[in-house]
Amino acid sequence: MKPILIVGGGIAGLQAANILHQNNTDFILFEKQASLGGRVSSTKKDGFILDRGFQVLQTSYSEVQRSLDLAKLQLHFFESGAMIKDQVFFNPLRRPFDLFSTDFITLKDAYSLAKIWFKLQGDVPALDGNKQTTQELIESYSFSDRFKNEFLIPFFQGVFLQETLTQPASLFFYYLQQFLYGNAAVPAGGMQAIPDQMASFLPTDKVNLNQEIVAITDKSITLKSGEIIEGEAVILAVDLLVAAKMLGLQMPETLGSKTFYFSAKKTEKEPALLRLVGEQHLLHFTCLTDVNPNLAPKGKALYSATSLQGSSEKEVKEVLGKQLPGIKLTLIQSIDIPHSLQKVDTYEALKKAAKGIVLAGDYLEFPSLQGALLSGRKAAEEILART
Ligand SMILES: Cc1cc2nc3c(=O)[nH]c(=O)nc-3n(C[C@H](O)[C@H](O)[C@H](O)COP(=O)(O)OP(=O)(O)OC[C@H]3O[C@@H](n4cnc5c(N)ncnc54)[C@H](O)[C@@H]3O)c2cc1C
Repeated sequence: MKPILIVGGGIAGLQAANILHQNNTDFILFEKQASLGGRVSSTKKDGFILDRGFQVLQTSYSEVQRSLDLAKLQLHFFESGAMIKDQVFFNPLRRPFDLFSTDFITLKDAYSLAKIWFKLQGDVPALDGNKQTTQELIESYSFSDRFKNEFLIPFFQGVFLQETLTQPASLFFYYLQQFLYGNAAVPAGGMQAIPDQMASFLPTDKVNLNQEIVAITDKSITLKSGEIIEGEAVILAVDLLVAAKMLGLQMPETLGSKTFYFSAKKTEKEPALLRLVGEQHLLHFTCLTDVNPNLAPKGKALYSATSLQGSSEKEVKEVLGKQLPGIKLTLIQSIDIPHSLQKVDTYEALKKAAKGIVLAGDYLEFPSLQGALLSGRKAAEEILART
């Protein structure tokens, strides 16, 4: 039997490779870049480890628990909650007595939160086919303007990386359940440790880096050099826009994001919390070394600030200056991430155009590590079911 050809070495492609390998099915993976991980990767600069955009590993995701060796990732955990200006909103399930320690939660908010919490009991599907958006859902509860506009909406703008919350309301409930009951973490070595671990389970001679695939059929791929390789089947595990292009379709552009990394001198450790902003398109910032000190050289602090695409360093520094008085921030690098996350959709036209090519990628589920892992598993299982 010829090998299964996998195009794309992001989380979805690596997951497909792992499932095939675990089932003794031969595969070859082709990745365009010089390293694996796709949207989950990290670079090193001046002793700092910079992830490709602020990202966290949600340890409660079922596919994360099933597919990764979490102990070996040496996770560092965020506190469950968020900071808004100088106030902290802790996860009310972990610190119920702190709920009213902030002055922006009213009884009305607590009542709406309790109603939402009630809905989170039991199985909450990420996607239930309902067309209601997250924005509409939030508006349907009687939250105070302050709680809604200073906490709930900015928090989910950061999760969805979009200004208007058009992602399905079911996804809001699903993520909320994960955030309330699970933990957000970063591996000691940065997010790149995740694809690195997944790759470590695979035979190295089956993974080809720096190999851009320019054309595909259901049983062959064409390398940039013009060489054609035949296989038993092809898994296309690239992002939505590349998949559409390779299948001769056009997709609307998705919103990009930008993460700024700053170094600072800071000796005091503070609670490892995400800090919400909601000014100048800046979504949130955090001191990453309060979570994971390995990300910076000794004695230095690493801050990340994430905005929607378009913010400048000057604007970001201005906002952070107000929030971090007395801390001098020096830009290490800003990272533009075009097409960060895509809108949840069924992508029927794309699936139809695939004609026997097996698709994988977070866009087939929902944008997250869970979505990418699940899509990779499903793609591999579809192929295993054929043989
Ligand atoms: C800024 C940002 C923040 C995020 N935050 C979180 C978070 O906190 N928690 C979370 O769970 N998820 C988060 N996500 C989502 C998560 O990173 C993605 O859902 C996941 O990485 C998608 O994986 P994928 O394999 O589907 O796609 P990709 O990572 O896009 O992988 C596709 C791969 O295909 C390769 N490729 C493309 N074209 C070709 C070609 N022609 N030939 C060969 N290879 C090709 C690419 O180089 C890439 O490696 C975030 C994403 C971004 C961008």
